[in-house]
Parts: sequence; C-alpha cells; structure tokens
Amino acid sequence: MSAAPSSEPRRVAVLSVGDELVLGQIEDSNASWLARELQRIGCMPGERRTVADERMLLAKAMRELAASHDALVVTGGLGPTLDDLTREALLDVVDAGGELESDPAGVEHLRGWFERRGRAMPASNLRQALRPRGAWLLDNPNGTAPGIGARIGAVEVFCLPGPPNEMKPMFARVVEPALACPGRAVLTAALHTIGVGESVLAERLGDLMRRDRQPSVGTTASDGIVSIRVRAEGSADQAREALAATVAECERAAGSLIYGRDGEPLAAVVGRLLLERNLTLATVESCTGGLVGAMVTDIAGSSAWYLGGFVTYANERKMSDVGVRRETLDAHGAVSAQTACEMARGGLSRTGADVAIATTGVAGPSGGSDAKPVGTVYVAVALRDGEIYARRFHFPGDRITVRRRTAHLALACTRFALLGEPTRPLLWSESEAVHVERT
Ligand code: ATP
Repeated sequence: MSAAPSSEPRRVAVLSVGDELVLGQIEDSNASWLARELQRIGCMPGERRTVADERMLLAKAMRELAASHDALVVTGGLGPTLDDLTREALLDVVDAGGELESDPAGVEHLRGWFERRGRAMPASNLRQALRPRGAWLLDNPNGTAPGIGARIGAVEVFCLPGPPNEMKPMFARVVEPALACPGRAVLTAALHTIGVGESVLAERLGDLMRRDRQPSVGTTASDGIVSIRVRAEGSADQAREALAATVAECERAAGSLIYGRDGEPLAAVVGRLLLERNLTLATVESCTGGLVGAMVTDIAGSSAWYLGGFVTYANERKMSDVGVRRETLDAHGAVSAQTACEMARGGLSRTGADVAIATTGVAGPSGGSDAKPVGTVYVAVALRDGEIYARRFHFPGDRITVRRRTAHLALACTRFALLGEPTRPLLWSESEAVHVERT
C-alpha cells in the first residue's frame, strides 16, 4: 500500500529575511505560504530559516542552505534602503570580492514604474536594479523591487520581495515554472481529534507512526486538539491512493476521536451535528467569558443553530440571568458540578434551545484553593427533556491556555453528547465519574 516515489523530489530551502521577523514583530507568513506552495508543486521543503538584516549572517545562511538543498527561495531584504541586504549577501556568495552591477532592464523597470505613477524616482531606488555578475533580475509587476535569480553552484536561488502581494505573484510566474515537478506530488491530510493526549493517540496508531513508514504519520497537539498528520509522496496518482489508504487506517485506529479534517473547526462539526438533528444551541459561560460563543459565531451560517448565550461572570449574574440558586452557590460554590448544571439548565429554559453548554472554573493566575486549584473547570452539557452531564477538568497552563482548552473541551463534550457518548473518558477530566442531573 505504500507508494515508492518515482523520483526523488527537489529539496528546497526557504530563507526569510528581516529584523522584524526575527524580533517577532510580524509573523513569518511568507515562509508558511511558501512551504505549502512548494509541496503543492511537488517539491520537498527541507529547511526554513529566518535571519536578521545582517550581511554576514545572510551570506552564511545562503551558503549553508545551498549546501544541503537543490534550490533556495529567499524572501525579503530587496528594498531600496541600506538595511535591505539580500543582494549584497548574494554577491558575497556567488562573486565574493566582486561588485554589484546595475542591470539596464532593471533601471528601465524602475523608471517606468515611477513614471506611470507620475512620481520622481528617489536615487536610492536605483539600488534595486543592482545584482551580482551572472545573476538576473526577476520581473515584479506589483512593486519596485525586482527579484533576483542566481545559481550557487548547481543550486537555483530565487530572491523574492518581502511584501506578500509582490512575493506570491513572483513565485507563481518564476519559481513555480522552474521548480514544478509535473506528475510528482507531496500530499498531506490532517485528521483532528479531541479528548485524548498525544501519547494515548500514538498508542492507538501503533505501527502507523513508524519513522520509516510511507506515507508518514505524525501527531501535533494544540489546546487539547491532537492532529494526525499524514504525508504521501510519489506520482500524483500514487500519492493520492496511498494517502487515502493511510487516512482510512488512521480513521479505523482513532475512531470517533476524530472530529474533522484539514482545519475544520470543532464548532463547525458541532453545528453540523445539531443541524442534522434539527437542534439549537445556547451557551452560558463564566470562566470562558464568551469564548465558546465566539468560536461558534466564527462559523458562517451558525445562526441556523446557535440561539445565543450569557456571560455570567459574577454570581449575581448566574442567579439573575440563568436562575442559578443562591443555595447551590452557597453549598457547592460557583465552581462546581451543581452550579454548572444549573447554568446549563437555565440556558435551556431562558433561550428555548435544545442543547446548552455551561462553563465555570478558575482560569487563574489567582483564585485557586486546595480543593479547586487554578485550572479546575466544570463543563456541563444539557440536553432538553433529558440529562445534564457535568465533568470536572483540570487544565494545565496559563490563563489564556486554560480558557482556550476549556472552550475546546466544552465543544468536545457537546459533540460526544450528541453522538450518544456523553460519559466517554476525556483528556484532562479529573475522574471518569460524570455528574448527571435531569433537566
Ligand atoms: P520593500 O521594497 O517593500 O522594502 P523588501 O523585499 O525589502 O521589499 P522587506 O523590507 O523585507 O521587503 O519587507 C517589507 C514588508 O513586507 C514587511 O514590513 C512586511 O510587512 C512584509 N514582509 C516581509 N517579509 C515577510 C514575511 N516573511 N512574511 C510576511 N510578511 C513579510
């Protein structure tokens, strides 16, 4: 069932240039985009580096990446100012000791670009027509900075501008035709699970995760969602078949833990289940402060199944908005299974929804106690004319992490309740016991 690739894919490195990237002031979205595009055209992204605007470091990175790859795509550092040093670094690598040369076609492009906009060209822009001897400029219809093409030995180098609206079209015009490998594909699929930890999931996947297996299977975790990542290579047909076969094996191994595929949001899956059953949803949130409602309303069309919700942060609001009883709060506290159940019950009665989710917990960093340390959260799911299931979780992490994990697990509890598995053991639930009340 595993497909042997018909030929080795080209290994391509991505080098992002810029102080603002290294300092974390902007996200390196170009590198992620390039990695995906390279796979789409049948290349294998080998390494990705981010380097500051420093000539020596840039030249070193270019040399090292060229030594271990078939091609190198650089993005950024082609602007007109003195801190844009990609062309100088390239010079040091391909023509050490040489001088940058002015490219007549590049000068023409710059003059035309400014003329068409009725603006005088600042002299500094002429820097953008410079390139090392033996290198060539890459046309940029969307900006002033032309790209630069070159070779480091046999390795093809493409220096693209940093602004995404200039970089992406240049990739499509120049890099894709040069590097695309027709008939060869690197295909990926992501299967998202919730409710188990990475190690338990890995046990279930067993030999599927062996490092020498093709297609390869790996896992990544984020806020309680553990994703199974499958990657198949080969001719387009082989890769498609091999991917489908391995995905099917993963689905058999993980069963109903898998809720969706390729980035599908958990809230969308809950919405689909509700729609199929002709049911509506309400939320009553304390520690998540509306996060569950936000995840739900992120989904286009959620008005068909989501009625709305309450953020009942103070105890007074828990009582006035959704009818939590003072005795319940006094006897068990705001962070308790009983309060969560009353919040969910109130969510049903005050909105007329068929299903209600409630969250109440200690997100931290303060407010914890021995009995209810920071990270203790109760999630309740109420089903009209049925039962309310409340669970106690203990989420590790800081305030933001606890809130996001709570929101995801609340949606997971709802999904399992709708699937008829309301008491299924879940990651981070403190005990397998589920507190059950009648609505
Ligand atoms: P310019 O002519 O605009 O100066 P350039 O090739 O020199 O082009 P940079 O100066 O490196 O590009 O970056 C310009 C802008 O492009 C950045 O401020 C940023 O907004 C965006 N940008 C650059 N690199 C990236 C990246 N890797 N990911 C996302 N955005 C980027």
